[in-house]
Amino acid sequence: MADSAVIAAPATDMIDPFGRHVTYLRVSVTDRCDFRCVYCMSEHMTFLPKRDLLSLEELDRVCSAFVTRGVRKLRITGGEPLVRKNILWLFRALSRHLDAGTLDELTLTTNGSQLAKYAQELKACGVERINLSLDTLRPDRFKAITRWGDFGGVMGGLEAAEKAGLKVKLNSVALKGVNEDELEELVRFAHGRGHDITFIETMPLGDIDGDRTDQYLPLSIVRARLMDRLTLDDIPYRTGGPARYVEARETGGRIGFITPMTHNFCESCNRVRLTCTGTLYMCLGQEDAADLRAPLRASGDDARLHDAITEAISRKPKGHDFIIDRRTKRPAVQRHMSVTGG
Ligand code: SAM
Ligand code: SF4
Repeated sequence: MADSAVIAAPATDMIDPFGRHVTYLRVSVTDRCDFRCVYCMSEHMTFLPKRDLLSLEELDRVCSAFVTRGVRKLRITGGEPLVRKNILWLFRALSRHLDAGTLDELTLTTNGSQLAKYAQELKACGVERINLSLDTLRPDRFKAITRWGDFGGVMGGLEAAEKAGLKVKLNSVALKGVNEDELEELVRFAHGRGHDITFIETMPLGDIDGDRTDQYLPLSIVRARLMDRLTLDDIPYRTGGPARYVEARETGGRIGFITPMTHNFCESCNRVRLTCTGTLYMCLGQEDAADLRAPLRASGDDARLHDAITEAISRKPKGHDFIIDRRTKRPAVQRHMSVTGG
């Protein structure tokens, strides 16, 4: 019998055991960040040694392999993706798939700190939409949440993105006792500038300095409170992600809710996540993973890499097992969001 490991898997679409087509890859290009958001990282994080990271050329190769396997949407994330040295090289390289029509969308999730510098160039690389994380509009609160962030710099980044013609979606993590009193203000701010906003619940990923049960605010409560102030209509709008959208009649803008903790969105999951070290996670909420770095480095052609991808997709689990409660103080998943990418 031939050694199956060296036979190139045909570059077929990726369909998991539950019949879901994998068409969306999120790639964390670095675990480092210039902020230390309280729900994401502890203040004194130990980051991965740089030698463990995939080079930009390797990231391009593995992303391109996924594109040949039917991925239509690539999201670059982190850590803070724009703090990775020479990251625009990767955007430029990946934009060839947009030009070829084999990729529909190249996008990124960012904290906005570097956008003033990069917004124009990102747009020139074919990036049309970005997600910008913003949990508060108050500079002192911004400092308390991000520890190291500068509110003015992020506002400058937002303006640069708008000026460059990037479509922006704001992402806000709803945090009990921290920003719960300004969520309506965030909605009006986003809609006033013509942007959608999505609220996210805190997820139990990685150890942080505090206790997560203190931060967890179910979005069912957020929604109910917003409904006291705004008329929200359910709408069928979807962006290929897990958010469920409503439209606020008063502002005409959209509000998304991502509720991993209170609503199981796994049935329609079309995505996998690659870390900056080349580990593929088939589910954000499970530990099971596949190493793509070894097959990537084993040879210059992609045969082993495709075999490893095929094998990994055959193990994509049905769903996640997040729980946050008073008895379960340990995170459900040990790795931080900054490793897997948000
Ligand atoms: N640094 C970039 C940023 O903040 O947008 C990209 C990476 S960050 C990990 C992606 C998203 O994950 C952000 O919107 C952030 O608020 C969110 N996030 C981080 N840790 C989280 C957690 N434990 N639960 C829920 N969302 C989290
Ligand atoms: Fe950095 Fe984003 Fe995590 Fe905040 S949420 S610490 S900006 S990776």
